[in-house]
Amino acid sequence: MNEYDSDRILDLVKKVGYFPTKNVLETDCYILNTCHIREKATEKVYDDIGRIKKKFRDKKKPILLITGCVAQAESSEMLERSKYIDGVIGPQSYHSIPDVIKKIENKKNKVNNTEFDVVEKFDKLNSIPNKNSKISSFLTIQEGCDKFCHFCVVPYTRGPEYSRPFQQIISEAKQLIANGSKEIILLGQNVNAYNHKKYRLSDLINELNSYDDLYRIRYTTSHPKDMTDDLIEAHKNCNKLMPLLHLPVQSGSSKILKLMNRKHNIEEYLEIIKKLKKNNEFIKFSSDFIIGYPGENEDDFNKTLSLMKDIKFINSFSFIFSPRPGTPASNLKTVDTEISKERLKIFQKISDEIKEDYRKKLINKKTEVLFENKMKNQEKYFGRDKYGNSVVVESKIDLTGKNLDVKINNFNRSTLFGEIFLNKNREVAA
Ligand code: SAM
Ligand code: SF4
Repeated sequence: MNEYDSDRILDLVKKVGYFPTKNVLETDCYILNTCHIREKATEKVYDDIGRIKKKFRDKKKPILLITGCVAQAESSEMLERSKYIDGVIGPQSYHSIPDVIKKIENKKNKVNNTEFDVVEKFDKLNSIPNKNSKISSFLTIQEGCDKFCHFCVVPYTRGPEYSRPFQQIISEAKQLIANGSKEIILLGQNVNAYNHKKYRLSDLINELNSYDDLYRIRYTTSHPKDMTDDLIEAHKNCNKLMPLLHLPVQSGSSKILKLMNRKHNIEEYLEIIKKLKKNNEFIKFSSDFIIGYPGENEDDFNKTLSLMKDIKFINSFSFIFSPRPGTPASNLKTVDTEISKERLKIFQKISDEIKEDYRKKLINKKTEVLFENKMKNQEKYFGRDKYGNSVVVESKIDLTGKNLDVKINNFNRSTLFGEIFLNKNREVAA
């Protein structure tokens, strides 16, 4: 979501004469868009500020704005701690950035803008065309969260659940398609909680599925509690909806899920997976895991390992529990750090083995790849298969924006390597 927000911030600042630059020494304004989901994010921001200060020691100070969830969570503390910062702007107030820049240019005071103006934000953004022309584009449809998992800062930094109006989203999707996007990834902290008047996420997917120039639809991140039957049905009826679902589970133990306030148990999670597989036999899953949550014992951890082995998630994001200030879990007794580290190591080893087995089976197989861009200084193109795997092929012909069959020859930890099927190559040349 920060990537989507950053792109929209760039669309906004153009109005007051600012443009993106790669020349970090000549820039007039820095905007650091931050994430607060785990520890260290705040320190990273101060490290970045230190680097900027050093670079500009003998030059005119650039405007420095901190945006995103660290700005929301730490607001006035940040302005106190670093005099170099000109403004802190929360994730629901970034539509005000052009005004903030103007104020700072006019030597007005430091700005602290951390209101939850989400309706105003999207109204404002709606009046500014989305200029993004990436082959695969993000599109925020929902923000915030009312679930209050005990470990998570999102409800405090992004605020309560808000769903954008259906027509507003469709009009932005049409802009992206007109700009050349071939894949749209619908975004939300709880994307499947989308609920605007009579419209649900399945309605948006059904609508997008009917657009000829759009090849692929994805959505992320979903909460298991909101995997309703209409959405599960969309995995059967919408041919453009990709067969990979990111469905965070956090733990394989119902006891831990309850302590986390996840609002479902492991049997319910497995039931959802079963229903999805029934609707689409090709569907695969990825997930998020928190290792060493307060109260997790050996038995709970083994349940997480068993779940991993049973579902065979093709991608998993696993982190040791990180206590976040202000959340209920931050006051709980933590699992011993060494034990958590050891568990994470075991978990990631198994997860890597599963991923490797899965990738081995792709060798010599045909897979459909949507190509996103040419790689820098190489005659190689980068794309993704239907399961979101990165694929690289060599080609003298421009493959950008094309959806082609590729034979996979090799792989490493992050990428599959392949070649275009000859018959398709002729099509490309044509
Ligand atoms: N809304 C999504 C859901 O409920 O599944 C997840 C969104 S959260 C922004 C992304 C991931 O960060 C979570 O799934 C969780 O695994 C991880 N996460 C959040 N808070 C964490 C914490 N305090 N410690 C470790 N990981 C955390
Ligand atoms: Fe955080 Fe997701 Fe839980 Fe909301 S549902 S509190 S975003 S982990």
